[in-house]
Amino acid sequence: MNDGNERTFTTADCGSVSLHNDNGIASLYIVFNKLPDPWTLVSGENAVECGENRFLHEFVDVKKLFGQLPEDLTLSFDNRTSIAEIYAFSDGELPDWVQVWEPPCEKADLMLFSGHADDEHLFFAGILPYYAGELGLNVQVVYVTNHFDTYDRPHEQLDGLWTVGVRNYPVISEFPDLYSETYDQAIAAYEYSGYSFEDVSGFMVDQIRRFKPLVAVSHDINGEYGHGTHCLAALALMDASERCMDEKFRTESAQEYGVWEPSKVYLHSYEENQITLDWDIPLENFGGRTAFEMSQQGYLCHQSQMIFPGLKNWLFGSNNQIKQAKQINLYSPCKFGLYKTTVGVDTEGGDFFENVKTYAVQEAEAIQKAEEERIKAEEERKAEEERLAEEERKAEEERLAEEERKAEEERLAEEERLKAEEESLRNKNNLITGVIITSSGAALIAAVLIILAIKRSKGR
Ligand SMILES: [Zn+2]
Repeated sequence: MNDGNERTFTTADCGSVSLHNDNGIASLYIVFNKLPDPWTLVSGENAVECGENRFLHEFVDVKKLFGQLPEDLTLSFDNRTSIAEIYAFSDGELPDWVQVWEPPCEKADLMLFSGHADDEHLFFAGILPYYAGELGLNVQVVYVTNHFDTYDRPHEQLDGLWTVGVRNYPVISEFPDLYSETYDQAIAAYEYSGYSFEDVSGFMVDQIRRFKPLVAVSHDINGEYGHGTHCLAALALMDASERCMDEKFRTESAQEYGVWEPSKVYLHSYEENQITLDWDIPLENFGGRTAFEMSQQGYLCHQSQMIFPGLKNWLFGSNNQIKQAKQINLYSPCKFGLYKTTVGVDTEGGDFFENVKTYAVQEAEAIQKAEEERIKAEEERKAEEERLAEEERKAEEERLAEEERKAEEERLAEEERLKAEEESLRNKNNLITGVIITSSGAALIAAVLIILAIKRSKGR
């Protein structure tokens, strides 16, 4: 299990593996041979549960888990856990082949239903490097069949996805990979294995409800080169897109996640509402290589499939002459038709997301709207505050004016009162003066009369 080969493996019957490094262990990368059950990582007295996600390739950030670099670690597995490789790393930058998988998307912008592990790089060439690797959209890859009956393909599957920039762990169905050359053969083979068409479309409905994709994409209804499982994937997605809103269909997922309908459903090579995607543009996140070139690289991870030259020749050309997606005419990976839409048909073309706002854009707009509403509410609050302050100021002004008016009135009344008092006082004085004058007048007359009387008596 430490030979650097993912295809050799050990079954940990003993149940535990001990590791030691004098300079401490910062992280672990475990390549399981079969999907693991949760296991325990022990450092001294501390034990941490790992593997809850059941990733086939699991990265463990030991430094983060224990807050230090332990020299000794014990990995304790259930008996029969099958491990291909365990890598332990000291502190520092990780090699880029270490796959640090994120869990499946919370919500998917794009959901790709790939018939098998390798179709995502063949007939869907360009899609994953461009939308996941370059644009960083939430891309959920869902495999319609699994390859857990082989040792190599589940590793190739993850290696290929990692190469093209997918970071959310894929969903892999429980349906086996059964050989068929027509749709009818596929249905017969699956029915023979205990699965119906409705099981497949029901599985797709469950994924649509769980991941709420805005855009869903799958195969050609003619199965590209006629592969029955590809036809099945296309027809099942058509059926799923009609039934995903019916809460009576697959009631369990309807109850758990609610119903959901993708805004757009595209099928490869579908002739109606067809758009042409350009996968030959250099991508920044891949050092100027194109989406098509990256998908070619992704396909090369599927070494087990190289024994079938047909598909490799289709993607690379028999003399490796195919360098651009546009060189491929048969089953062109650039041609997709819009099978179903709730947002109208494409007018520009060239992009699955025409008329669709990705979740990141929706969130950014929601944040902006909330911010605008907050600012508006703040402005309204301020305006209201100002209005109230103004009202208060006016009321105070009126109160003061009223007080002043009253004081003036009182002052006038007092003045009036004083005036009246003065008047009445003056009137009293006049009376006294009058009396005095009158009495003085009477005295004068009396004196005159007396003087006259005296003069008259002197004259005799
Ligand atoms: Zn296939």
